[in-house]
Amino acid sequence: MHDKIETISSIDKIHLLTKKLRQEKKSIGFVPTMGYLHEGHLSLVSESKKNNDVTIVSIFVNPTQFAPSEDLTTYPRDLERDKKLLAELGTDYLFFPNVEDFYPDDFQSHVSVNEITKILEGEFRPTHFKGVTTVVAMLFNCVMPDNTYFGQKDAQQAAVIKQMVKDMKFDIKINVCPIIREEDGLAMSSRNVFLDEKERQDALVLSKSLKLAEELINEGERETKKILTEMEKLINSVDTSQLDYVSIVEVESFKITDRIEKNKNYYILIACKIGKTRLIDNKLLKM
Ligand code: AMP
Repeated sequence: MHDKIETISSIDKIHLLTKKLRQEKKSIGFVPTMGYLHEGHLSLVSESKKNNDVTIVSIFVNPTQFAPSEDLTTYPRDLERDKKLLAELGTDYLFFPNVEDFYPDDFQSHVSVNEITKILEGEFRPTHFKGVTTVVAMLFNCVMPDNTYFGQKDAQQAAVIKQMVKDMKFDIKINVCPIIREEDGLAMSSRNVFLDEKERQDALVLSKSLKLAEELINEGERETKKILTEMEKLINSVDTSQLDYVSIVEVESFKITDRIEKNKNYYILIACKIGKTRLIDNKLLKM
């Protein structure tokens, strides 16, 4: 058991470290996060530790992926607690860059993925993915990992990053890991701390509606519209909910589908505000 984790903020230092690790032929696993860590994040770290010589976690609340109306300034942070959790897991290094180093005054480049960013999260958060792909490209260039670990919780984000890696020829493997949930089904999220007691209860409509969709499909329903209508009814049954979208997409293409077909994989996806807190959740469906 370790009680401290080596933290690196300087970009020069992370380049030096990862260059040395590559020279020593050590495989590098990398887990990018925005901190305020929970079991979901830690499951990615464990997966990285299992499959790599060295695991590096980054914590960076990336300003460019938040719209001006969103929760950048109130996003929960607790660096000391995060460091302790990472040290307990035996994480090798924490990369904690400064905003001023990542976005100096003369910063003027970006990476953007054009098509799959137009729907769902991209429709409701039009500037979000450009911020994500730009910062993830910077993080990848700092760490140059062999493997990276992303959560299925942000399924569209993982799909967008896979597309970026493919298009930009990054020599990096993207591993997508299962969603970790609270005992009652709520998907773990740093933003869950914003929910009051009633909202916390109401938030269960997300996971419950995904279960309902799965049941309907198991009973033979194949028309997406009918499934989504039933999900919407359940989500709208609590007065704190305000639905952004429910949708079903094919896993590989991330294209919205009208009908569920045999031998294909789908994500059923939800984004919904509970009170002021915007939550997302999804379920993988293997037909
Ligand atoms: P975030 O700190 O919210 O940017 O998340 C960092 C990484 O953790 C992303 O790849 C997320 O998809 C992943 N993640 C967040 N919540 C969960 C969860 N409940 N289960 C698994 N992975 C998660």
